[in-house]
Amino acid sequence: MGLTPFRNEPYLDWSDEGNVGKLRAALEKVGGELGGSYPLIIGGKPVETEGEIVSENPAKPSQVVGRVGRATEREAGMALDAATRAFEFWRNTPPEARSRILLRAAAVMRRRRFEMIAWEIYEGGKPWAEADAQIAEAIDFLEYYAREMLRLKDGKPVAPFPGEENRYFYQPLGVGVIIAPWNFPTAILTGMSSAAIVTGNTIVMKPSEYTSVIGAKVAEIFEEAGLPAGVLNFCAGYGSEIGDYLVEDARTRFISFTGSMKTGLRINERAARTAPGQRWIKRVLAEMGGKDAIVVDETADLEAAAEGIAVSAYGYAGQKCSACSRAILQEDIHDEVLGRILERAKALRVGPPGSPEVFVGPLISRPQFEKVAGYIEVGKEEAERVLGEDPGDPEEGYFVSPTVFAGADPRSRIAQEEIFGPVLTVLKARDFDEALRIANDSPYGLTGGVYSRDRERLERARHEFRAGNLYFNRKITGALVGVQPFGGFDLSGTNAKAGGPDYLTLHMQAKSVAERF
Ligand code: NAD
Repeated sequence: MGLTPFRNEPYLDWSDEGNVGKLRAALEKVGGELGGSYPLIIGGKPVETEGEIVSENPAKPSQVVGRVGRATEREAGMALDAATRAFEFWRNTPPEARSRILLRAAAVMRRRRFEMIAWEIYEGGKPWAEADAQIAEAIDFLEYYAREMLRLKDGKPVAPFPGEENRYFYQPLGVGVIIAPWNFPTAILTGMSSAAIVTGNTIVMKPSEYTSVIGAKVAEIFEEAGLPAGVLNFCAGYGSEIGDYLVEDARTRFISFTGSMKTGLRINERAARTAPGQRWIKRVLAEMGGKDAIVVDETADLEAAAEGIAVSAYGYAGQKCSACSRAILQEDIHDEVLGRILERAKALRVGPPGSPEVFVGPLISRPQFEKVAGYIEVGKEEAERVLGEDPGDPEEGYFVSPTVFAGADPRSRIAQEEIFGPVLTVLKARDFDEALRIANDSPYGLTGGVYSRDRERLERARHEFRAGNLYFNRKITGALVGVQPFGGFDLSGTNAKAGGPDYLTLHMQAKSVAERF
């Protein structure tokens, strides 16, 4: 198709007054659109529902961002039907044509970049740089998967056999249910949806109930890019109301899920049962949580380590699956690194994301705020709180200031359970062996990091640190599409590796055809 090679979309520079002005204008424009209504879109047609999802601004809960259709099993069934019908033509649409739609969606997203950043700020409570990185990542997924499909469209070579033509190629699976989290509402939703679509599947797209307006915007972008009706069915709703139905239905061929371990395991179990009339084993891609650790040894650049830990722990208020929630410091440098982490954490600006300087915005929702506040209470029992205050009034926004617990036992709850807030647990290790053992003492295995100048230890960690995404001497968040394929080990998920060279094949089935002449 004569495309330039894939390159990551550059981030916007917020020291450039031009960009600041454009975002302020977009915030004003989108501000005027708050409170709007978004129906479901099934088979290309708007579908009104009896109930609605009322989406709020987490920095100012009294502000309604939008009202979105709230599917019941009835609408979820309609969406599965529409996707089933559309599969008949979409599966036969040439891969190049499917790729072009992704490329066009990337162009639309680029044109609407400031507007999408503004929605991320209003609905996701994202600080500016985080919101921008979201849109850049969504564009990356579209550009990357469009090219990946072209690479895979003719299959892969097999060994020659005399007198025969042997071919090995991929075909789409069928109807996929895409279930997304709220923490990367544009990027993850766009990534999971575009991978499923470009490989020839049709989808029922269910965004998180907390970021359904952004879900509606993503659906709109695909429509603007020319995606035919029925290929993507926008089916917003509560997981507790339609999740099991979508997962268990016989029409569902695969489920692509990103979210918590609890929901992921539930989906995996329910998808394993064969519904009456079902003709396949459902495939489940489930990318789940983490309790990610950074290890620092005595040879490390301690300044860089403290910086990497603070950025990884508090970016988007710690609401990243990749966030550093455990810092494991060797005892000889423990106090010094802890001191430097505290200095940095104290300096972070907390508040509504009204300017590029704000680093820690609100938590996404009241339940999340209450969960994190609960863990702060647990932490006060289990360890020493060396930084942080009790959270304030949630009516004023779901803000929690950066919190550090020191002196915790590695087996304590705050060292074992995913908190998903700006809470860092600092642990002490005698030596590198013990540090690595503590890092691996978790049911999760998503991201991890080591700060060290010792070659032998780095090589050991390369093999022994149980994490799907491991980083040396840098922060552990911000995996780039095409550069650091993303997905964890163990109970962090099925290791689908989004943004990587194996991802699309998980959305297809391989076929071998032999013809004897
Ligand atoms: P969640 O599990 O609460 O919800 C995720 C999605 O599942 C939502 O759309 C929700 O409506 C839906 N859901 C809820 N119950 C369901 C059911 N019974 N059946 C089907 N769907 C159901 O997670 P969340 O709070 O939205 O997201 C945060 C979690 O996501 C964290 O644990 C985080 O670590 C994880 N996460 C993982 C990755 C990764 O790539 N591994 C990336 C981002 C977030």
